[in-house]
Order: sequence, then structure tokens, then C-alpha cells
Amino acid sequence: MPEPLSRRAFIGTAGAAAAAAALPGPAGAIEAPAIRRPVQNHFAAVSSGNGLRAVNRAFELVEAGTDTLDAAVEGVKIQELDPADNSVGYGGLPNEEGVVQLDASCMHGPTKRAGAVAALEGIKTPSEVARLVLKYTNHILLVGEGARRFALSYGFETENLLTPESRELWLRWRANRGTADDWLDVPESEKMTARPTGTINLNVVNAKGEISSVTTTSGLAWKIPGRAGDSPIVGAGQYTDNEVGAAGSTGRGESNIMVCGGFLTVEHMRRGMKPTDACLETLKRVVAATPPRLLDARRRPTFGLQFYAVNKRGELGAASLYPARYAAHDGREGALRDAAFLYESR
Ligand code: ASP
Repeated sequence: MPEPLSRRAFIGTAGAAAAAAALPGPAGAIEAPAIRRPVQNHFAAVSSGNGLRAVNRAFELVEAGTDTLDAAVEGVKIQELDPADNSVGYGGLPNEEGVVQLDASCMHGPTKRAGAVAALEGIKTPSEVARLVLKYTNHILLVGEGARRFALSYGFETENLLTPESRELWLRWRANRGTADDWLDVPESEKMTARPTGTINLNVVNAKGEISSVTTTSGLAWKIPGRAGDSPIVGAGQYTDNEVGAAGSTGRGESNIMVCGGFLTVEHMRRGMKPTDACLETLKRVVAATPPRLLDARRRPTFGLQFYAVNKRGELGAASLYPARYAAHDGREGALRDAAFLYESR
């Protein structure tokens, strides 16, 4: 709903019009009075390409009056609990020892709070544990065994997060990773060539301009045990400033951490950039900060990275190093869209 102009604003506008009428410009033209339109916020949610169900769920919940953080966590939980998404939560691909270690972080703009967990084992929904850190502790980041025990104290149960499919993928990776070890390679036809990655980031703003963000992941597949990526790092994997907007990321976490990409993207929006431009600007900084060993012969990154952003008004956008899709809900419908990108192809 448009906010009605206040009486004071109305008088100001009428006064300006009268003054303009009394003082015509040199050519006799009367300048139109400057009318300050009230800023209208509206719902928006933006997420990674695996987040279409998440943005739709967030929309339903926010429409029903749910807080933006709770809506964001419920949205990403769909992926965390889905055994078919092997980049997040249950069914996530494990570290090099075959153990699933999960990372997540979240921020709640209205209360200016953050929570995160890293290298959490045995709990399917690290986004919920991150929210508990935010709500009930004086800390921001809990890791490893401490994070797991913290979750158990709230009634979570330790479960096996490795699905038969994710174990199978790990076993094949272990068998084929080198020729100088004692693991016999599996047949060529079964070889995995790519290193699968994935994560879900979701940023939500409601019609009151209240903003929250969450990112959750199983991190890079086959990572060194104990490695935490960007997802649990507030300011990298996600960041919210309730006066400005929110942003988050998926892709090579180390490259995001190097530029504090979530924070940087919000700062670009603070200086007036639209969400998509802000994401592109952050990616340019990533490229500038990339060491030569991660650049190809044409000086393009050899990894993937994406940023997603919303501002307080409900404008949203995303950008990627290379062509990618993202999920968006603009308050009317949820859909997959093409992200802006820096490079046509790898
Ligand atoms: N950003 C995640 C990490 O580095 C991985 C990903 O999004 O693919 O842990």
C-alpha cells in the first residue's frame, strides 16, 4: 500500500509549487515541483539455483506473518532435509575421510544479531542450530564438537548424514584420486571428473523492510577435515544490514572469504548500487584478488562463484563469474532467472 503523503509533506509540496509559479524561469518555463515519493518496500526473496522451493516457502510464511529469519530458515531446511541435494545437510558430500561436516550462518536485521556453526557433524539442519546460537547465546560462531553438543542440548539427535548415494560418490572419489596410493581405481566409465559443489543461500525482505539472510552447506566435497568455508563466516557467506539489504554467496568459499563478499556486496548497495550491479562489482574484486594459480591462460578464474542480493525496497538480483541460474520471488511469483555474469564460458 502506498503511504499517504503527510500533511506537512503536502503543504511543503504545495508551497514549492506556489513558489515555482511565482518565479518562472528565464524562458518562462515553470519547473515541476520536486515531489518526494515515499519509499515502498515489498516482499522479495533471492536464493541460489537450488532455492526455488525455498523462496516459495519463504513467501508463504512471510505472507502469513512469519518473521523473515524464521521464513528463511524454513526455506533452506527444505534443501537441508532433501537427501537428493548432495550440497547441503542430509546427503551432503563428505570430507576426505567420508565424514559429513556442515557449515551455516544467519543474520536477523531488525535485532542486529548473527549466529553460525562450522564443521558440525551429525545434525541435518545446521541453519536451525545457527539460529539457536543467534537467539540464545552471546556468541556468534560455534564449531565442531562444541557445536554438536550445543545442538544436542536443544533436543537435536545425532544422525548419520551420509546417504548411500553420497557414500558411493565418496568411495569412487577415494579410489580414483591418485595412482600412487593403495586404493585400486574403479573402471574409467565410473570415474568422477568434476568436484561437486553447492550450497543454499536465501535472503528475505518483507513489506516492512525487515531483512534476514541464511546460508547453509556441506561445503566443498572431499575437503580437508575441519575446513570451514565461507558459509559460516558472517560477512562472507551472508550478511544483512537492516538499513540497506542482504547478500550471500555460493561457490568457492575461500575466494569469497578473501573479499568478505557478503559484506562488500551490502556496502556496494549502501553506496547506491542496485543488487545485480553490487554483486557484479564484488565479483570483479574477487577476480582482482585471485592468485595466479587459480587463473587460466586468459586470466579467468578456474572456479565458480555467485552472489545474490536484495535491498530494503525489495529489489533483488544475482551475478556469477560464469552463466548460472538463481531463484527469485518478487512478491508475485517465484521463478528461476539467469544471473548476470562476468565471463561467457570457462
Ligand atoms: N561456498 C561453499 C563452501 O566453500 C561451497 C559451495 O557453495 O559450493 O563451502
